[in-house]
Order: sequence, then structure tokens, then C-alpha cells
Amino acid sequence: MAQRKTGTVVDKELITPGLMRFRLAPEGESQFPVYEAGQYVALRRDDCKLTRKTGIGQDGKPTYEPEFDPWGRQTVGPVTHSYSIASAPADTREEGWLEFLVALQDGVHGLPGRLSEALFGMGDETGCDVTYYDRIAGNFTLDARAQDVESVLMVGTGTGVAPFVSMLKELQERSDGSDSRRYTLVHTNRTEAELAYHGALFEIEASGRFDFTYLPTISRPSPEVAIDPRIGQGRANNVVRHIYGLPTAEEDKQTSAKSDVSRVAAELALARLVYPVMPRHLRVSEVRERVDPSTSVLLTCGNPASMADLRATAARREIRFELEEW
Ligand SMILES: Cc1cc2nc3c(=O)[nH]c(=O)nc-3n(C[C@H](O)[C@H](O)[C@H](O)COP(=O)(O)OP(=O)(O)OC[C@H]3O[C@@H](n4cnc5c(N)ncnc54)[C@H](O)[C@@H]3O)c2cc1C
Repeated sequence: MAQRKTGTVVDKELITPGLMRFRLAPEGESQFPVYEAGQYVALRRDDCKLTRKTGIGQDGKPTYEPEFDPWGRQTVGPVTHSYSIASAPADTREEGWLEFLVALQDGVHGLPGRLSEALFGMGDETGCDVTYYDRIAGNFTLDARAQDVESVLMVGTGTGVAPFVSMLKELQERSDGSDSRRYTLVHTNRTEAELAYHGALFEIEASGRFDFTYLPTISRPSPEVAIDPRIGQGRANNVVRHIYGLPTAEEDKQTSAKSDVSRVAAELALARLVYPVMPRHLRVSEVRERVDPSTSVLLTCGNPASMADLRATAARREIRFELEEW
């Protein structure tokens, strides 16, 4: 059993009201265990608002509701969850901290998620201590998942970009010209502000220290907000379909609809669809050439629905598929 230790948040940035980046320093004079880019660690706070299981819903999944004490206050206690490390091992060796990218979850009954709410609430009154388990785990690493390939296509949605940020920063740090692989990152979030790390990722691409193409897109563009031309549009699964010359998931659903109900649902989805658009400086043919199915691996992390569609695309195009399961 890994030892429990108490770390301190040394830097915290609220990127948007629902997205936060923070750095955690280890307990006292200790150091975090040595880790590989792509791994995760378990974090815990003791001031989480607790919930209790109420049964099983119609979808077969457990249902929960807030748990109250006899005085009608929501019970408070510990919750532990895993979080991917967004810092590179080289950062941690140099600076000591680990970095995380955390989203405020939609929890039960419209309430926020238990641990993410407590992490977002850290401050002067609540303290900035985060308990961590002194063991870094996981096999979502380039060594384990991307052996014997010429090209790595990474797809990260939302906070699912975290392991890829760690990998790309580490590749940048270690680059000495000997790595001949091509790395491509499709990185999608709803808005430009939520594309956390895009500044750093553009810099890594521009430095040219290894073969890296960064392909950020947003899935909820607004006509009122101008988009940086280096950022494309569309959901990650549809962007990857576009790269591999497939119709969008919504178009496929319309084509295969068998009943009036599913046809109407598909048409509604199509009416709302944000079609994939590449960043202005990238041509889809160039990207397609970089990620030839026979020599590439598709590494994915993020939104489960998007990941399921990416898995289907990988099967259709016969590309090796690897998923970090959250
Ligand atoms: C390997 C790994 C890496 C991850 N990396 C990240 C990351 O980098 N960034 C990030 O933001 N997230 C990451 N996650 C997700 C993270 O671990 C948490 O699941 C997420 O932050 C939600 O936690 P929460 O306590 O806020 O939500 P919860 O309160 O746990 O609510 C989430 C869901 O859990 C269920 N639930 C509610 N109450 C209970 C209960 N009492 N018991 C059991 N289930 C309940 C409900 O279905 C609810 O919708 C990762 C997960 C894994 C497995």
C-alpha cells in the first residue's frame, strides 16, 4: 500500500470557471517518485461533500444523491481519485512539483463532483494541502503504447490532453535529433480559452526540435468571437474522420438511420454539427500523409463518446488504437 503524504499547492491558475491548472509540491523535504510521461497519481482531499448510492437507474448505472447529516447539512469527508500528470518528468526533476489539469465535474443532481469541487475550492480558508499517494502508476506511456511505429497520432479532448502535454514536453526536453518519429496532436476543447496549454504546444511545434504537428480545434465556435487562424474547428472524432477521409459521425448516423425517429434525431444532430475545419496553415492531405495507418498508432484520452467513435475509426482504417481509460 502506497504511503499517504500531504503536498502543498504552490501555483494555481483558474483557466476558465470550470478548468484549473495547479502545481503540487511534495511533503516536506521528500520528492515525488520517479515517473514516465503519461502516468497518473491518486490525489485526495478530506473536505469533499459526500454522496450516497440510491440504487440503479434505467440505464443500468448506479444513481447517487447528496448525503446529509441529522442536521440537514451535506456530509463532508475524504474522496480519492486518479489524475494524469501534465508536467514532464524533466520539470519535476528540476522544480520538484507535479502539475495537473482538472475540470470541475458535473456531479449528481446538478451538484459539482466531490473531489473536483474541493480542489477548485482550495484557498486561504480551506487550505491548499492535497493528500497524495506516494506511488505513480499507469502504462499510458510512449514506451508501452507506441513501440515500433513511425508516427504517433495523439488525440486529447478536454483534460485528456494532460498526458500528451507531459509526453510532448518531455520529448522537447530530451530531443537530440535522434528521434525520427512523427508526432501529431489533435487537441480539442469547447472554446479557445479551454484549450489549456495551446501556447506552450505552439511553442514546442515552432521550436522544431523534433517532428511535431499541433492541430488544435474548438467544438463550440461562436460567430461573435474571432478565432486564432492557427486553431481549427470541430469535435476531435470528426477531425480524425476528416483526416482519414471519412464522413462525420453525424452524417454516418443519418445514412444508417433505419426508423423515422432515428432519422429525425440524426437530422437534428446534423443541423447542430460543427463541421471539421483544419487550422489555416495545415492541409488535410499533409496531415493524412503524416499518419499513415500502416505505420502509425492512435493514442487517445478524454471524452468517452469521442473515444468510442475514434476506436471505430481506427477499426475502419486499420490503425492501431490505444486508449487511456478514465
Ligand atoms: C487514470 C485517470 C486519470 C485521470 N486524469 C484526470 C485529469 O488529469 N484531470 C481530470 O479532471 N480528471 C481526471 N480523471 C478523472 C478523475 O479521476 C475524477 O473522476 C474526476 O475529477 C471527477 O471526480 P469528482 O470527485 O469531482 O466527481 P464525482 O463526485 O466522483 O462524480 C463523478 C461521477 O461519479 C459518480 N459518483 C457520485 N457519487 C459517487 C459515490 N459516492 N461513489 C461512487 N461514484 C459516485 C457519479 O456517477 C458522478 O457523475 C482521471 C481518471 C483516471 C482514471
